[in-house]
Amino acid sequence: MSQRTIAEKISCTGIGLHTGAPVQLTLHPARVGSGIVFVRSDLAHPVEIPARRDSVTSTVMATTLGRGDATVSTVEHLLSALYSLGVDNARIEVDGPEIPVMDGSAASFVFLIRSAGLFDQNAPRRLLRIRETLEVRDGDRAIRIEAARSLRVTYSVDFAHPAIGRQSLSDVEVNGDTFEREIGRARTFGFLREVETLWRNGLGRGGNLDNTVIMDDHRVLNDDGLRWSDEFVRHKILDLIGDISLLGVPLAGHITAVRGGHALHQALVEKILANPHAWVLEGGDADTAALEHLPVGAPAQASA
Ligand code: ZN
Repeated sequence: MSQRTIAEKISCTGIGLHTGAPVQLTLHPARVGSGIVFVRSDLAHPVEIPARRDSVTSTVMATTLGRGDATVSTVEHLLSALYSLGVDNARIEVDGPEIPVMDGSAASFVFLIRSAGLFDQNAPRRLLRIRETLEVRDGDRAIRIEAARSLRVTYSVDFAHPAIGRQSLSDVEVNGDTFEREIGRARTFGFLREVETLWRNGLGRGGNLDNTVIMDDHRVLNDDGLRWSDEFVRHKILDLIGDISLLGVPLAGHITAVRGGHALHQALVEKILANPHAWVLEGGDADTAALEHLPVGAPAQASA
């Protein structure tokens, strides 16, 4: 497998979920080994923010990345589409502090990447292969990764709400096909009570029924209803893929998450980075910008 970028640059415009302001997003092809890099193009001195764990500044409501004073939030849906379609290298310019929310899912980003086209680069793709099980627990929430041939996800959620309840999806293999068919169109969701609190605090100003599944205490308020009855757990998988991509390298392992969220997803990324004995890095040079945060100096001597 070779590294991949997009074939040509492509743009779209949307609004930020929190600011409610218009944002332009432009995806550019990028050289081998550069990884996914966000650029705040609206600043006097454009700031580059690599899509890596060491750029994460917040996991409240959404995943936010930053360098110095420059931040870009709600990166997870775009990152999820890039990862699932196998894009290793891209430069992502955004002229505001948020990635546009589009319809609340990753469908628009899949369309954008497909429209630009994929380009296989003349360099082998690396892979972080899990060899020993790692787990993080937080009360009744848990996330675990164990050895598997490719990235697979099992996710369950449990919300005491008539529209959600217990939902679980097992052993979803993460690739472009399954993402487009099963995961990418699942939308962000929220509860009316919480949305009203956000609005009072000046947040979520771009959030509405066109880009969020909103529920009162009894039912889904969107006229068109849900895209799947278990759209909620599908969206959680979408978020997880985007968050886990902040490892900065494709991953082979089976993740099982119970009642996860952005913070727990990042806790797993940290656990992986802190335990190099539990994985091996296969293929290609480790000596690239995309991997400089990995503890690759440490020998990956898994005994399994
Ligand atoms: Zn999300």
